[in-house]
Amino acid sequence: MKIKVNSLSNGIHNFALRKNVGEYDLEEPFVGEIDMAARVDKSNGQIIFDCSFEVMARLQCDRCLEYYDEKLTGEFRIIYMRDEVSEEDEKNDIYQLMPETVYVDLTKDFFDYVKLALPMKNLCSEDCKGLCPSCGANLNYETCSCETEVVNPVWEPLLKLKK
Ligand SMILES: [Zn+2]
Ligand SMILES: [Zn+2]
Repeated sequence: MKIKVNSLSNGIHNFALRKNVGEYDLEEPFVGEIDMAARVDKSNGQIIFDCSFEVMARLQCDRCLEYYDEKLTGEFRIIYMRDEVSEEDEKNDIYQLMPETVYVDLTKDFFDYVKLALPMKNLCSEDCKGLCPSCGANLNYETCSCETEVVNPVWEPLLKLKK
């Protein structure tokens, strides 16, 4: 998402962009379209970009291994200042705006934050019953005749390998 800033007047401006994830070079697990929005607040000394996004991801459940779609959303703020900024500032998404800057490209920032929005743990639903450790049956859809015992989450990665 590129925003032309050199001719932007002071004040609030809103930008929105919808792209197909493929067209936008966002790799798996993202699918469909990504909606990006930026509220831009420009003043003499700085430009503040308040950004938000919405994108679908196709994730694989850690318990039952089924694929499911989850909507991911997020927000972040990027600031460009006329003043010189430190390395520490850049870590906090504060950058220097050079006098010759025409565009500010937020694409990489969107990529970074979209990736951060991916969950640490993938569950198709909070109460997913997972797979039977003995026969591998998906217990969300079927019951099996194995002796039922609660699976210790520690073994879940092994069950995955088994499958
Ligand atoms: Zn599941
Ligand atoms: Zn079973």
